[in-house]
Amino acid sequence: MSSSATTAPHDRFALPDAAGRFGRYGGVFVPETLMTALEELGAAYEAAKKDPDYVAELRRHLKEFAGRPTELYFAERLTQHCGGAKIYLKREDLLHTGAHKINNALGQALLARRMGKKRIIAETGAGQHGVATAAVCAKFGLECVVYMGAVDMERQALNVFRMRLMGAEVRSVDSGQKTLKDAVNEAMRDWVTNVRGTHYILGSALGAHPYPMMVRDFHRVIGQETKEQILAREGRLPDEMVACVGGGSNAIGFFFEFLDEPKVKLIGVEAGGRGIRRGEHAARFEGGKLGVLQGAKTYILQNPDGQIELTHSVSAGLDYAAIGPEHAYYRERNRIEFAYACDDEVIETFQLCSRLEGIIPALESTHALVHGIKRAQQLRPDQIIVINLSGRGDKDVNQVAKMLGVAL
Ligand SMILES: *Cc1c(COP(=O)(O)O)cnc(C)c1O
Repeated sequence: MSSSATTAPHDRFALPDAAGRFGRYGGVFVPETLMTALEELGAAYEAAKKDPDYVAELRRHLKEFAGRPTELYFAERLTQHCGGAKIYLKREDLLHTGAHKINNALGQALLARRMGKKRIIAETGAGQHGVATAAVCAKFGLECVVYMGAVDMERQALNVFRMRLMGAEVRSVDSGQKTLKDAVNEAMRDWVTNVRGTHYILGSALGAHPYPMMVRDFHRVIGQETKEQILAREGRLPDEMVACVGGGSNAIGFFFEFLDEPKVKLIGVEAGGRGIRRGEHAARFEGGKLGVLQGAKTYILQNPDGQIELTHSVSAGLDYAAIGPEHAYYRERNRIEFAYACDDEVIETFQLCSRLEGIIPALESTHALVHGIKRAQQLRPDQIIVINLSGRGDKDVNQVAKMLGVAL
């Protein structure tokens, strides 16, 4: 499908187009009842991002509440261990609530307040986006309802308790597989019914326009800081950058500032699960096909009848059948490359990073580490690779202990 030559860099701000499309991906595929709400949201967002008061307030909360800027950290022992390129980690794991998701939750909560919406709904899989949303709603005094699959609620009981502590109502979803996809359906149903006073804080660079664009923009700060920090530190841009890709929000935020720097190789890492066999993984570019899911046209894991395939990953945050449309677009243009990491490699690297660096990474972020380490080993010591550490692994230690047969 894609030509072998890298296409010339283009204006990264040119997309999405007015219809919310990134080339043939993206768009707005929702029931008529939501069209008005999405148009209203798009208009409010366009106005907000031009308003210096909104921009300054968001910046202030990102600093004071979330803990930005995050460090760009030289991983000295991991670098020694690999014997190749210098490895830097962008420390999104140091943010409040434990991952990059707070960047987007803050941006959207402030937008909701501007729009006069006092009720927030969200969906969550692993619970990280739910926790970030519950935190910002508590901070701004907004009512918060989080939809979560019944199976996920059981697997992530600690995050359910965290959300409830911060005043959110967590609603169990018992339809379908009882996981993230079903929670998204339920959140959309709620939004259709209550759209007047409710804002839906979608948690990744997914869904109908303007969400993929808006969520991307709220995470662009990751790449902006990275660029400044690596220039200050090394006096040049990195050779390669690696990020994990669930819906694609941490990755697109990290990459965006570098899209028109053709010498910087950008690599997204999907979840290879137990291996690339139907139902055993969540690598949309390994066997996925073009289709429409939950608002956007993109690569989706589906069977020949168009039914959504079962997915699996050791990390709940990467376990979703669709990928953000902007990633599909830049893959087609050969600007972002994609790879995958499997569960067993992830469990090994989770321990390696903890032991060598004193940093316990989120299982999601560990996918980027697995591939980043492989790349570093291929590169020379005078080269530089930056890996986005999208979150911390505290939430994952119980699961990993169980997998390693350690009783807690
Ligand atoms: C949710 C999550 C992800 C996956 O979401 P993206 O939108 O692809 O970034 C990755 N890492 C962490 C730590 C997460 O919590």
